Amino acid sequence: MLNWVEIDAAALRHNLGVFRERLGSGPLLGAVVKSNAYGHGAAPVAALATRFGADWLCVNHVDEGLALRAEGHQVPILVMGYTPGDRLRDLVRNDLRPVLYDLAPIERLAEVAAADGQTVPIHLKVETGTHRQGIPASEVVAIATRIRDLQGVRLEGLSSHFANIEDTTDHGYALRQLETYRSIDAQLRDADLAAPIRHTACSAAALLLESTHLELARVGIGMYGVWPSRETLVSCRELFETEIELHPVMSWKTRIAQIRDVPEGEFVGYGCTYRTTRASRIAVLPIGYHEGYRRSLSGVAHVLIAGRRAPLRGRICMNMSMVDVSDIPALSTDDEVVLLGRQGDDRITVEQLSEWSGTIPYEFLTGIHSSLPRVVVNDLP
Ligand SMILES: *Cc1c(COP(=O)(O)O)cnc(C)c1O
Repeated sequence: MLNWVEIDAAALRHNLGVFRERLGSGPLLGAVVKSNAYGHGAAPVAALATRFGADWLCVNHVDEGLALRAEGHQVPILVMGYTPGDRLRDLVRNDLRPVLYDLAPIERLAEVAAADGQTVPIHLKVETGTHRQGIPASEVVAIATRIRDLQGVRLEGLSSHFANIEDTTDHGYALRQLETYRSIDAQLRDADLAAPIRHTACSAAALLLESTHLELARVGIGMYGVWPSRETLVSCRELFETEIELHPVMSWKTRIAQIRDVPEGEFVGYGCTYRTTRASRIAVLPIGYHEGYRRSLSGVAHVLIAGRRAPLRGRICMNMSMVDVSDIPALSTDDEVVLLGRQGDDRITVEQLSEWSGTIPYEFLTGIHSSLPRVVVNDLP
């Protein structure tokens, strides 16, 4: 293989165990596998996560749900993103649960489902302070009443999402959102319209705030062994006596395509942005920004070769990159190169790659091209 992503099954299992322990036995654990499981590969991650105790799978788009059904998954699947009108029938026919936040699509879905003789469990998203999706508090009871009176749908879930939980060690805003959420839930209860499955928690909330756990937690980044942010890690250290350890699930690898000697004073790559300061040995790697090795890593990132660091030289190209291996002896083409993960005693983390390229682990990971093979390693016998 030219470029590939390795998925550490034991790490995934460990991380799910961490969340299971935090949640206790009550709440359901929803594994968020949207966006190709944050770049890890939806198929292998969903298979492992359900084996290791995830109760639900959460996706963004109806097509992601269809793919999971095609692979034989029987667990409840929550579609958290927008479903266009012409795809509502696919929700009905594949037993997918949508998150909805407008009356019109709810009525349309009810019609489509009733025509099929089905009843779709739907989840309402309510506005608590993120102002992205979400039904205003003043309209929730009316919409829930309408759902009760419609054939083809029933209210199963009540959800919200936190605006400011990862980016801070002050959880005041999240707690105020939770208060708003609770008052909406109370209104529904008073009207005898309560949704049985309430959910608000992402990874950071699941780790930090037990009051957010309710009946279902939607766990993404933490399951992949990546902290939602440095602030979340710091907050966890303040809150808990025992350190919570997450194990990174992904490694990303490639191979040396060519090794060449470049004299002192010569330029490397497009734009002549790097000039050798000595006679150098340059290795060409068959990986570039098309594959998700971001161009903003040019000139700043390192890779691991033979357990040593090799710095990027010149600009990252569409499908190629150049690294300086002058100080690493005895290399040959096809030698393994680690872009992300461990080799020997050293390790390149996704936090480091994100910092180098001016983004966050969420964006970095989801940017790794879905065409690269995902290989499960370290699985149990
Ligand atoms: C992506 C997403 C999550 C998961 O968030 P993490 O921080 O990755 O755990 C949870 N809920 C919703 C609505 C999401 O879109």
